[in-house]
Amino acid sequence: MIIVFKPNASNEQMKHVSDYLVEHGFKIHPIQGEEHTVYGIIGNTKNLTPEFFESFKGVSTAFRVLESYKMCSRAFHPRNSKVKIGNITIGGNELAVMAGPCSIENKKMMDNISKKITQHGANFIRGGAFKPRSSPYAFQGLGEEGLIYLREAGDKYGTPVVSEIMAISDIPLFEKYVDVIQIGARNMQNFALLKELARLDKPILLKRGISATVEEWLNSAEYLASKGNQKIILCERGIRTFEKSTRFTLDLSSVPVIKKKSHLPIIVDPSHPMGQRDLVIPMARAAIAAGADGIMVEVHDNPDEALSDGAQSLYPKQFSELMKEIKIIAGALGKTIAKN
Ligand code: PEP
Ligand code: MN
Repeated sequence: MIIVFKPNASNEQMKHVSDYLVEHGFKIHPIQGEEHTVYGIIGNTKNLTPEFFESFKGVSTAFRVLESYKMCSRAFHPRNSKVKIGNITIGGNELAVMAGPCSIENKKMMDNISKKITQHGANFIRGGAFKPRSSPYAFQGLGEEGLIYLREAGDKYGTPVVSEIMAISDIPLFEKYVDVIQIGARNMQNFALLKELARLDKPILLKRGISATVEEWLNSAEYLASKGNQKIILCERGIRTFEKSTRFTLDLSSVPVIKKKSHLPIIVDPSHPMGQRDLVIPMARAAIAAGADGIMVEVHDNPDEALSDGAQSLYPKQFSELMKEIKIIAGALGKTIAKN
């Protein structure tokens, strides 16, 4: 339930409503708009009608949020929510560009790649230390050692770092080394993991599941928001369809759909769905044009030898070209690439 107060509602009138709600066991999520104060009500409001709240003095209107993802819905929070990480605010006019290798392989490669991508304007460094691989025989990641190399690169080149978590037991490591915790596609509906990450005061990058609808994805975000962590950034990374010419089908339509249904920022990963580096660049451009708040791309300085996802990793030089192109597209939309 959403309660919108009149612009001239007094503090006393609002307190009257909040006292009633608290007394009846509801949680209030107040949102201060430019003119109005809005209360988002969490709890079972089945037995209450909007008309009931409209009878309180100072209330302009009340209405139900029909979506099951209440806190993540646009109705609950009409303005875009913003997530601030270091000097960068995602969800406004500044674009996030997260780049780096699929896997952190060793200290030297992490340093080399980080140096190049940050020179070209990447404002986040990514790299996986715990890898969700289809085959148990494939490289599984360096674990904590990898997170240390990633942290060192972030500190040296002055950018926040992003890495994927797979297990609840690794949370202390991620709290220590990482600025943004990525929940990978395979864990989007790992509700136990979501509930634990909801308790942290760290931004979460929530990737879309391989077979998840937008509604399921937003419900996963709701697990984080409703249990205490509203620093959520969504990441579209493609879904599985009948199409075989690309690794996954990059559903760029989810960008405007999410923008309509939710206030959360959304970035796009064109690397995993396209699967081949020459196909990544046009879709990265398209993601920005579609209104994404940023991109995440895999970059490797020696992709032929990469321990994972070499074929889709851009050469640093290609990344530099891409940065020039997306700057132009961002400019046309009144956006800029954020600087650390
Ligand atoms: C990744 O970012 O390296 C990754 C494994 O992504 P996804 O979960 O989207 O497959
Ligand atoms: Mn990868």
